[in-house]
Amino acid sequence: MNVPIGSTVLGYPRIGGRRELKRAVERYWSGRLDEAGLHDVAAGLRAQAWRELSGLDSVPGNTFSYYDQVLDTAVLFDAIPARHRDLGLNALDTYFAMARGTDEVTPLEMTKWFDTNYHYLVPEVGPDTRFALTGDKPVAEYREAASLGIKTRPVLVGPVTFLLLAKPSADAPADFAPLSLLDGLVEQYAELLETLRAAGVEWVQLDEPAFVADRTPDELAALQDAYYRLSNLSDRPNILVAGYFGDWGEALPVLAESSVEAVSLDLVAAPEAIERVSLLHDKIVVAGLVEGRNVWRTDLHRAAELGARIADTGAVLAVSTSCSLLHVPLDLDAETDLAPEVRSRLAFAKQKVDEVVRLGRVLLGGESADLLSDTAAGTATRDEAVRARLAEVTPEHRTRVPYPDRADAQESRLRLPALATTTIGSFPQTGAVRQARADLRTGAIDEAGYEQRMREEVERVIRLQEEIGLDVLVHGEPERNDMVQYFAERLDGFAHTELGWVQSYGSRCVRPPILHSDLSRPAPMTVRWAEHAQSLTPKPVKGMLTGPVTILAWSFVRTDQPLADTADQVALALRDEVADLEAAGIGIIQVDEPALRETLPLRERDRKAYLDWAVGAFRLATGGAAPWTQVHTHLCYSEFGDVIHAIDGLDADVTTIEAARSRMEILADLAAIGYARGVGPGVYDIHSPRVPGTDEVAGLLTEATKAVPATRLWANPDCGLKTRGYAEVEPALRNLVSAAIRVRAQV
Ligand code: GLN
Ligand code: ZN
Repeated sequence: MNVPIGSTVLGYPRIGGRRELKRAVERYWSGRLDEAGLHDVAAGLRAQAWRELSGLDSVPGNTFSYYDQVLDTAVLFDAIPARHRDLGLNALDTYFAMARGTDEVTPLEMTKWFDTNYHYLVPEVGPDTRFALTGDKPVAEYREAASLGIKTRPVLVGPVTFLLLAKPSADAPADFAPLSLLDGLVEQYAELLETLRAAGVEWVQLDEPAFVADRTPDELAALQDAYYRLSNLSDRPNILVAGYFGDWGEALPVLAESSVEAVSLDLVAAPEAIERVSLLHDKIVVAGLVEGRNVWRTDLHRAAELGARIADTGAVLAVSTSCSLLHVPLDLDAETDLAPEVRSRLAFAKQKVDEVVRLGRVLLGGESADLLSDTAAGTATRDEAVRARLAEVTPEHRTRVPYPDRADAQESRLRLPALATTTIGSFPQTGAVRQARADLRTGAIDEAGYEQRMREEVERVIRLQEEIGLDVLVHGEPERNDMVQYFAERLDGFAHTELGWVQSYGSRCVRPPILHSDLSRPAPMTVRWAEHAQSLTPKPVKGMLTGPVTILAWSFVRTDQPLADTADQVALALRDEVADLEAAGIGIIQVDEPALRETLPLRERDRKAYLDWAVGAFRLATGGAAPWTQVHTHLCYSEFGDVIHAIDGLDADVTTIEAARSRMEILADLAAIGYARGVGPGVYDIHSPRVPGTDEVAGLLTEATKAVPATRLWANPDCGLKTRGYAEVEPALRNLVSAAIRVRAQV
């Protein structure tokens, strides 16, 4: 271990400050840019990133990707499903076929990268998978950087995490476990390490974030085996094993006993990790002191203290970000519109690199601590009225009258049939809707003109729903670009960026709002849309809000107070919105919480506390609703064993859930815990262009009536219809309505 690491970051954004990669790959997909042109853009972005990182002692390499790093790893080791390979396309198009599918074949499944909003592609492996090092991306990018005079440390998804993230291919036997392929995969990693070493690589980084979640003894043994074998290779680069988003837990002793040279610790997500740092006394400890996934400047003095404590244990210190900077925008300096008191508290990727460099110079280079002085400027703006109100919140604010009483009051007010039909909120966002938004941006129409077009769209959607015969209508959400951004733009306490893009998946990027201060609602946010929609029809129109957990999950949140308190501030704002909707005559209000499951902590031991505040915030938002107001919630996932009690805890009158895959199990699970309120298992899978027939939907509903009485059962799609076209949505909803009518007559 003669080469230190010094200062480094675990990864870096790759889409470019102006989303150059997004635009290039999309041009390539549509045939407007050829492969050589795409390569040029990519090489330019890589060179730019390496230049921006060149002040670090150790520059991460192979952080670029055309789509996703897990997909890159699958392709590197030839784990290409037959359906994609058999298309007979060239390498790049095979890669994109795996990512996006083609007219003939489905893509790999996509899912969340741990508890972030980044999505990776899920490798498919089976007993017949034969890993083979057929790619050379890490080597090629190492050489490319070297030719620019920059020595990089190739970053790779580690072999164990790769297999833990993979899923069995469709034709694998039921008892097949991807981890059974570890030996073959590690052999190929070994070959890769040797190849990298031969190319001159001194360090590699193998990411094993799967081990910051709870793991079985077998999985820990797999980690031990893999790193025993890799670290015993005779001619290899030094190995840094990186874990992030939490504490290594039982994996730390395993790594400590291995012969790898360096281990990273996420001291932001898990400051307690410092207590066990002495386990790593003979290694380099890559201390994640600068937060990689939020946008705040680091308290460099505090970080320096932590770093010094690690050095005191005898370990060799290296200074780093807590995780890859992939999860933050690239450059604060590109923003021209941020209020100075907010800006002074922020650091994006480039600024975080600078923080790491300075920490390194002080902690490792012996330079004066003066270098750390201009940090942590400014604080959140306090809103005393909000704080006073929160201090007064009692359990009663989170409690409605018992459900049976509410159900009676709602029944006499709403007079809904058994198996009432409804949708989840959004209707297709047509070209005309998007055009109106674009016209508003460019100034082709003014606010009033935009408003007028949206009101016409609402009317069109109401008329359509009436004609189809749905029981509970929605306004269709045409005015919402995004279900979180829409609210964040209407709440005080949020800032918005112009170029703060973060990759969500592939070429899709989002600009999460930044919640920097106490939060309040200066004016009603949705009432006039609901009111307008309700004025057009005698049928009940559902008001549509996004819940506190989801608003926080898709934003950058403040870290100067517990998230639970921030969630309650959001909840109070929503509570006022609920009251205003009620006052406007809206009888049904839906509060969406699609993120409830996805921000579930990675470790079991943290889950209860999370669910307690998450449920508490929802109940604070909805607890002021009158008994005769029907509160709905919508949850976007089908596997929710982990949170099933929390779903009951929300105490919504009606819960609609995604149920495309395991419909009846969900109903049975809910019944098993005594859930006895309204439920709408999705009977139309909106993630597919397929239109379900009346018989199919009726069959599903009939089956559902065996688990839940029809009076409490709802008929609805899986999720919002925003991404679908009317050509599919119209017939699907017609079939849904006829199916409900048919089944109603039978029960
Ligand atoms: N009401 C939202 C919609 O219909 C819900 C979206 C979601 O669940 N992600 O679009
Ligand atoms: Zn949904």
